[in-house]
Formats: sequence, structure tokens, C-alpha cells
Amino acid sequence: MTDRFLEGRNALVTGSTSGIGLAIAQALATAGAKVAINGLGSAEQIESAIADVDAAGIGGTKHFGADLRHPDAIETMMTELATWSGGGIDILVNNAGIQHAVPLHQMPVAKWNDIIAINLSSAFHTMRAAMPAMAERGYGRVINVASVHGLVASKDKAPYVASKFGIVGLSKVAALEYAAQGSRDSGGITVNCICPGWVETPLIEPQIESRIGGGTRDDGVRALLSEKQPSLRMTLPAEIGALAVFLCRREAHNITGAAMPVDGGWTAQ
Ligand code: NAD
Repeated sequence: MTDRFLEGRNALVTGSTSGIGLAIAQALATAGAKVAINGLGSAEQIESAIADVDAAGIGGTKHFGADLRHPDAIETMMTELATWSGGGIDILVNNAGIQHAVPLHQMPVAKWNDIIAINLSSAFHTMRAAMPAMAERGYGRVINVASVHGLVASKDKAPYVASKFGIVGLSKVAALEYAAQGSRDSGGITVNCICPGWVETPLIEPQIESRIGGGTRDDGVRALLSEKQPSLRMTLPAEIGALAVFLCRREAHNITGAAMPVDGGWTAQ
């Protein structure tokens, strides 16, 4: 039987119409949380994401369409979420992210601005809105989906790497500021980053395609993994979901300020 230890808890997962965010939303719903999803996509994609999260849990999933490039839209979403959740969310997962891989001097300024806004600044805006209510209740979880690129660099990813190193730093500051709130019994307030290597989602398809050459998609995947990820296995989104659920447990009250690689040994090299 599924352990529904998150019954009565409310969660927001940004960027959860696809990929890792959708898998985290499903995992939190399976553990009993009421989940708000966010992200872009067609009406069909959004309906399908709501249905997937509903099917995993108690239902009542709601989509918030805020475009995270815009602080005003985030503020409106957080105000509406406070009403939807009856006083503030318990679990905040900042997952939305985009990528654009070209050398620094070719990076369009607009891409730099969008990547910093979505991958980094949006987390500042959601955290500043959500964390005070967590402190009042003595329980809160902020899980920021960073990347191995929050721990090491790769070429051609200047704004992405800058945003991911930034969110690791932001998370450590918030972890310290909230470390003494709550108690072992209430679960405390923790702030952590998950730092995946390659995870099988639409985000990395362009990087697979650019390595296919004359071969198959499998050849592209093999080439991508062999460059950096010693396990030579991609992580599945649901496996990131399982780690996020573990971090929400009361027993995880002293895991805070961590940046956890899920990278098949990439950053051990
Ligand atoms: P994805 O492309 O499948 O999903 C990205 C999500 O972000 C989608 O729901 C999309 O709608 C949303 N989004 C994009 N722009 C937005 C905007 N302006 N406003 C609101 N939502 C927006 O990507 P993914 O692979 O699931 O990536 C999720 C997170 O994981 C990202 O932060 C990414 O950097 C990180 N990550 C992914 C990998 C990987 O290998 N896939 C590795 C390390 C880290």
C-alpha cells in the first residue's frame, strides 16, 4: 500500500506540464498531497497533465498558467495559491527550466534573460512568497531542481550554468535563514537542490539529435552519455520524483542546504 504521508499537505510544482516536473507532481500526489501544477503547453497537454496527476492521487489538481519570465504573473499565482491551499503551500518545487546551447559570444541576449528569469529568478519570487507561511506552520519543503550544471560547468551553456550555480547558492542562503524554524516533530523547513545529470525528457532531445550523425536515436543517446555520465544510464523522471518525495518526509528535517547529484558519477570525476 502507498504511504500517503502527505495527506493534508499542498504543493506547487513549477514547470510540471512535462518531464521531471510532471513526474514530481505525480509522485507528490501519490504520497497524498494536493498538487498545483504550472507550465506552458497546449490545452490538450495541460488537460493531460492534470489528468495524470489526478489519477495518481486524490484529485483536485489545478493548473496555474503563470509565465515565469514575469514577476507580476508569479506574484498573482502565489496570491491565488495561498487562497487555493487555505493559507499557503507546504511544498514548493521550483523545477521549470529551459536550455539553449551555443557558445557565449553567439548567445542571444534575449535567451540569457529568459534563462536567468525562468531557471533562477522565478525561484526567488516563489520562495519569498511561500516561505513565511511555512515558518508559521513549522513545516515546509523547498526543492529546487538545479542540475549537475549547478556543480560543474560545460561549454556552450553560459546562462544555464550561471542560473544553476545561482539557484544552488540561493537555496543555501534560504536553508540557513529557515534552519531553526519548526522542530523535529513538526518536520522543520528545509531547502535543497536536486542536481540531475541526464534525465530522459524533451529538454535534452536537441542535444541527442545533434549527436545522431548518420545513426539512430540510440547512437545519439550513447554519444551523449559517454561524454559525461559514467553509469551510461539515463535517469527516469519518476526517479527524481521519488527523491523529492523522500525530502518531504519528517525524517528528512535535517537534510537542508544540500545540492544532491543524481548523475551516475558525473561530478565524482
Ligand atoms: P521539460 O522541457 O520537459 O519541462 C520544462 C517545463 O518547464 C515544462 O513544463 C515547461 O512548460 C516549463 N516552462 C518552460 N518555460 C516556462 C515559462 N516561461 N513559464 C512557466 N513554465 C515554463 O524539461 P525537464 O527536462 O523536465 O526539465 C525540468 C528541470 O530539470 C529544468 O529546470 C532543467 O534544467 C532540469 N534538469 C533537466 C535535466 C535533463 O536531463 N532533462 C538535467 C538536469 C536538470
